[in-house]
Amino acid sequence: MTSAKRALITGITGQDGSYLADLLLEKGYEVHGLIRRTSSISTQRIEHLLCGNQPRVVLHTGDLGDTTSIQRVLKEAQPHEIYHLGAQSHVHHSFTQPLYTADVVALGTLRLLESAIQLAKTQEVRFYNAASSEMFGHATIVPQNEVTPFHPRSPYACSKVFGYHQTINHREAYGLYAANGILFNHESPRRGEQFVTRKITLGAARIKVGLQKKLALGNLDAQRDWGFAKDYVEAMWLMLQQPVPGDYVVATNETHTVREFLEETFRLLDLDPAQYVEIDPAFFRPSEVPVLKGDYSKAEKELGWKPATNFKELVRLMVEADLALAQKEAAQAVI
Ligand code: NDP
Ligand code: GDP
Repeated sequence: MTSAKRALITGITGQDGSYLADLLLEKGYEVHGLIRRTSSISTQRIEHLLCGNQPRVVLHTGDLGDTTSIQRVLKEAQPHEIYHLGAQSHVHHSFTQPLYTADVVALGTLRLLESAIQLAKTQEVRFYNAASSEMFGHATIVPQNEVTPFHPRSPYACSKVFGYHQTINHREAYGLYAANGILFNHESPRRGEQFVTRKITLGAARIKVGLQKKLALGNLDAQRDWGFAKDYVEAMWLMLQQPVPGDYVVATNETHTVREFLEETFRLLDLDPAQYVEIDPAFFRPSEVPVLKGDYSKAEKELGWKPATNFKELVRLMVEADLALAQKEAAQAVI
């Protein structure tokens, strides 16, 4: 172990975990990650940190569903900062796997918090919990901020509400330095392909190069506050550098419909959505979150954070990355 500050990231193989690992390495941290065993390789997003003779991150195998593995990983890594990002993070899937989602997202957070307070008896440890704007769900107040009441609309969102309150409870009951980031949707070229933004940019890019014929989507009227994931991981780090821990909304304070995201993507690629987009009821949810828009003024005031990337820039950077990817796929298909 080095004398550098040590961070443990759960969910290091995910979108946010990979950007956060990049950021913490830049800042000189020793970065550890909890990864779960999978039958095929899940480390594509952190491949650049693993290649060569000297991997830049230390990976520990465990699972948020397994208390003993969490305890072992904390003992091995002895982190000063824990960034808890691991989750079954897909809202629609949470309706078909509600108990699994609750186990990983709600109880997984509690398992980690319980292990963190044990570690906190012997060393300083700070805890970041990835809460979510989904907790606001059917909120009638727009924009939403840190005092807006929650009205969760899915097993995922209900599980996040539990994790949020449990994080505050560990702060109040045991004096753990613990912060909740209430992050609104954030996207990037590393976003999972089943989330609507990435599904649209990758699908449209594949249509452009002739690899795909149609794009099937659900509710185009939902409104989301979309930011750039790379901007948002900076806010996570800032939350753990404050003298007193708190809970913060991280957002852009702008909202756009899925339809607007779709139209901007197709415009950039000079395609007509009417020719390619089909509405498929399979992508509608049993209960929907109609409008999310986040007021991030507390984060701006206390953390000095604000978003650096606007909606059009976000769509453009995702389209450019996915067009390059689709062109590569098309070239390989010809060989
Ligand atoms: P991803 O889905 O990209 O990543 C989720 C990560 O959790 C992956 O590394 C995944 O591992 C890991 N994971 C899943 N199940 C388990 C498990 N049982 N044990 C251990 N690890 C597990 O999510 P994001 O990076 O987009 O999001 C990060 C966090 O922020 C999540 O908690 C998400 O719910 C939350 N959030 C995200 C928002 C967004 O817009 N992106 C908005 C608000 C909150 P594997 O690679 O093996 O699947
Ligand atoms: P979420 O906000 O965390 O649920 O992020 P998603 O990217 O999964 O969904 C954002 C919005 O897009 C939701 O209101 C979905 O109902 C809507 N949506 C419309 N079509 C699709 C689709 O094909 N896939 C997904 N994932 N969402 C869709």
